[in-house]
Amino acid sequence: RTFQKPAPQAMLNVATTRHIKTHASHKGSHGDVVIVGGALGMGGAAVLAATAALHAGAGRVMVSWLGGSANTLPPDVMQPDAAALELERLSVVAGCGGGQAIAERLPDILQRSAHLILDADGLNALAADEGLKTLLRLRGAGKPTVLTPHPLEAARLLGISTAQVQSDRLKSAQRIADLFSCVVVLKGSGSIVAAPDHLPVINTTGNGRLATGGTGDVLAGLVGARMAQGMNAWDATCTAVHQHGLIADQWPADKGLTAQHLALQIQ
Ligand code: AMP
Ligand code: MG
Repeated sequence: RTFQKPAPQAMLNVATTRHIKTHASHKGSHGDVVIVGGALGMGGAAVLAATAALHAGAGRVMVSWLGGSANTLPPDVMQPDAAALELERLSVVAGCGGGQAIAERLPDILQRSAHLILDADGLNALAADEGLKTLLRLRGAGKPTVLTPHPLEAARLLGISTAQVQSDRLKSAQRIADLFSCVVVLKGSGSIVAAPDHLPVINTTGNGRLATGGTGDVLAGLVGARMAQGMNAWDATCTAVHQHGLIADQWPADKGLTAQHLALQIQ
């Protein structure tokens, strides 16, 4: 496989993507996202992912806590009981600040969720249990799944070192995509998006100011919102990765960039 640079026109389309809300629509028209994450002491990760999904325009955003419910959420985020979640019709962002507790929730989420974005400890739980029996035998045909590893998480998924992942990032991303039959973002400078049925692409936006805690959680929430709004997994992921980096590129040079700023800047 060779690297295919997106055509300039395609990049422009990605850069200008916004979710449009038509006059006759209502909150049920714009997709529901649930963040399953936020263990005790890591609740901020779930707050950041939820904030990103809200600002991306998802119709309803929920957090299903994994123990970190002491964290303050924006008032527009719901906190339903885990048993009441209708996973079959939800875009589920699982693992942001998840801790060990995500491992117990994952089999149910893999079997039932309409769309799944798996990040952080959700990915570590996969790696710790033989790809959670290879994503519970590939999650049932046609159920879109996105994995968002940084290089260390990717190394755990592949059972190799981080240096080996980084020595051929295109190949590493493609291997994970093929192994789990899903869309993968290998994050970091020049994030790579790969899928079994695509040539991988390298994102051209973003910079070192994103190298701060919580920016990955913002990305996961943004991908979740785009999928809830009806984009397919590939487009949702490419769009989100590009937009996430673009916000960092356009952020004023004389102002510090935090993950919270990034989430609030999403449109
Ligand atoms: P995480 O490692 O999960 O916190 O995610 C960090 C996010 O910031 C990912 O979207 C990375 O691609 C992005 N990021 C971190 N460092 C850089 C960098 N030096 N250049 C571009 N993007 C970066
Ligand atoms: Mg992360």
